[in-house]
Amino acid sequence: MDNPNKSIECSVEQCRYHCSDCNYCSLDKIRVGTHEADPETIQCVDCMSFRSVQG
Ligand code: SF4
Repeated sequence: MDNPNKSIECSVEQCRYHCSDCNYCSLDKIRVGTHEADPETIQCVDCMSFRSVQG
């Protein structure tokens, strides 16, 4: 992925949408969600657009 979206910083190198040479996402937009019923900390929220490089 070589088309960084400078509006979306990301360091998750295990995602297929992560730019290979910089810490940005290559998607035009992402969706953020939560896996908790009542999120209260940063650990409670997730990038729902994540896709594994392995899958
Ligand atoms: S889809 Fe989400 S996890 Fe993947 S590179 Fe973009 S912001 Fe990061």
